[in-house]
Amino acid sequence: MNEVTTQNVAIIGSGPAGWTAAIYAARAALEPILFEGALTPENQDAGRLPMGQLATTTYVENYPGFPAGDLREYLKTTIAEERQYALPYDTFDDDASKRGVSGPALVELMRKQALDCGVRVVSEDVAKVDFSKRPFKLIDSNGDEYFARSVIVATGASARWLGLTSEELFKNNGVSACAVCDGALPRFYKRPILVVGGGDSAAEDALYLTKFASKVYLAHRRDQLRASNVMQKRLRENPKVELLWNRVPTEILGSSEKGVERVKLANTLDLKEAPLEIEASGVFVAIGRRPNTEFLEGALNLDANGFILHESASATATSVPGVFAAGDCADSRYRQAIVAAGSGACAALDAERFLMESE
Ligand code: NAP
Repeated sequence: MNEVTTQNVAIIGSGPAGWTAAIYAARAALEPILFEGALTPENQDAGRLPMGQLATTTYVENYPGFPAGDLREYLKTTIAEERQYALPYDTFDDDASKRGVSGPALVELMRKQALDCGVRVVSEDVAKVDFSKRPFKLIDSNGDEYFARSVIVATGASARWLGLTSEELFKNNGVSACAVCDGALPRFYKRPILVVGGGDSAAEDALYLTKFASKVYLAHRRDQLRASNVMQKRLRENPKVELLWNRVPTEILGSSEKGVERVKLANTLDLKEAPLEIEASGVFVAIGRRPNTEFLEGALNLDANGFILHESASATATSVPGVFAAGDCADSRYRQAIVAAGSGACAALDAERFLMESE
């Protein structure tokens, strides 16, 4: 499509950072193009779906502008019919009206707003980049080449895994990193489930899964949760949740026909102790995120964990002038939707300034 045209701004990523950058760049008349990623089984397995982490979360209660209220009618009139499938409406909670916006709805609204501003969307992944000379070259997963005077990388982050052989064996057969995507599957219905992790994601997943499971174990490797106080309180108050302190899974047991059936958990304080074995129909891994920056290796300076390094006074500049980074792919500290959106706006303003100065 774009072998010959050089874009002013190409944005890679479709979470809050990407869509906000796109809205700002479009309103600055830069006619941005945005690669939203492809909905492929490989991306699904890797937890790298289009629309980012918000699309796999439940309610977002800390994004300003969306207080408690029933958004269903608004969403039905705002989001195009062909995108309605992405909106969970009643899936999460019976008292949705008290909770406000869901993650999928929030990011879908951002997408719609960007389209309204004239942003052009490519539903492909960027598989490779060449930032060694300008215009920069982007190659998508079909092998199509695009050229751009400036690039904003906003590829977010995706799930980290425990690294067990049995975890790999049971992926899509009881092991998941996305409670919202998989929690309602019949295999988990009225059966026990294990969630691993101690942060807000693990707490949120555990609470969400209580809607389907007979019981939700939450195993944390320490005796203190990292999750916010409000989430800890909700966990404590939910009779279906049982916390397993100082425990990490060491083996997931089951069969290819029945999927996950049991899990062995070691005591992190006493590794010599015989592992605790629990019955569980599923294991939901929620132990943090790693940045989606593999395709940038060698093209930009990354830190030891793969996060893009910001290199100058401008908040979003990278090691290559003209390439900017926003959101969770460059943020190992805050990792919040509102912060990602803010940095997306900064990246678009920085790209606009760069283009003006380099003309
Ligand atoms: P996180 O805060 O980094 O928590 C990861 C958890 O996994 C930690 O408790 C960590 O244990 C544990 N962990 C890490 N590696 C492990 C391993 N190999 N084995 C066992 N446990 C392991 O990640 P997150 O929960 O995904 O949250 C990320 C960010 O998003 C946070 O800023 C969070 O506040 C935000 N978030 C907010 C909401 C909300 O506001 N509703 C919802 C979800 C996420 P340690 O504690 O011992 O390090």
